[in-house]
Amino acid sequence: MSEFRVIHRVTPFPEEYVLGYLHRVAEKNGIKGIQSLLSDALGTPRHSVSLTVVTKLATYCRLYPEEVEQLSGIERRNHDGVRSWQVCGEWVTKAAFIAPNHRKFCPCCLREAPFVRGCWQLVFYNACARHRTRLLDCCPKCRKRLNWTAHRLEYCACGYKLADAEALHASNDALTMSFLIELRGGARVPPGESLGVGHREFDLLAGLSLDGLHKTIWFLGHCLKDLGRYGTGHGRLKRGQTEVDLMIRHTFELLKDWPKGFGDLLAEYARRPPADYQGPLEGRLLGPVQRYLRQELDGEEMAFIRLTYEQHLRTIWQEFGHKHRLRRVRQLEFDFEKQE
Ligand SMILES: [Zn+2]
Ligand SMILES: [Zn+2]
Repeated sequence: MSEFRVIHRVTPFPEEYVLGYLHRVAEKNGIKGIQSLLSDALGTPRHSVSLTVVTKLATYCRLYPEEVEQLSGIERRNHDGVRSWQVCGEWVTKAAFIAPNHRKFCPCCLREAPFVRGCWQLVFYNACARHRTRLLDCCPKCRKRLNWTAHRLEYCACGYKLADAEALHASNDALTMSFLIELRGGARVPPGESLGVGHREFDLLAGLSLDGLHKTIWFLGHCLKDLGRYGTGHGRLKRGQTEVDLMIRHTFELLKDWPKGFGDLLAEYARRPPADYQGPLEGRLLGPVQRYLRQELDGEEMAFIRLTYEQHLRTIWQEFGHKHRLRRVRQLEFDFEKQE
């Protein structure tokens, strides 16, 4: 690692995505790509920038440390080594909520200012709330998924200028989700009739932190589908926009009929025969989601899901015991009460 500093300082945009910013610095200073820049500045080509290297990177880029700190995508580890990422001034706690290696863009935004907005890297942000257009994740010309290898930030590696891409209309669901995310940064939200969800559900989601909002969509729109399947893999997320749109739709539908729809779904899963393995009845009935809910949805703001879940669990517990004449069910109910 050298003590080299870039010649030309590039001023970051507010909440610009860190890799996009570094791409601009590399371009301006004739450095061949982000990897070379990171090797030069930090001694590693790893595509991640943690809080611990902020000062070093600031010196290298001729910035104040605060200017680097406000960039989106900065990573930190707590004392247990658990990682989280800053996006638009808040911290998200799951790697699945951000997509660091792939790029999305709004052609209209790129026409106005050629930089990568931090929120674009969030997996649930798929519509530009400013232009009401769908974010694109593939090059319209070569159809390849965009990453960070292109020589210039505004172009695909095939040479296509991304700002020339046709702007496509975003779905109401994707737009609503983007509005909810933008609200965190103090953005104004358009009138309710243009939203993909009712006022009550919107207000409920708008009251959550960025992390809480993501966890809610992840749990209600994704994890719940695996309830009762007992297998592993519910932690994997297919990051295609269609799958993400579906998760958002599932969540909105469940919230519309809250808490009845959620309870009906749980009751339906619990009526299936339990998995054939030895373990606590609770785990066999409701699979790994159980653990996720208790470990991850533990904050005060998540209580609306947790408490509803536990209420319904109690009901289906009794139904299950009755139906299967399980001798131990009374004891299990007792154990469950003790856990609370
Ligand atoms: Zn835009
Ligand atoms: Zn291309």
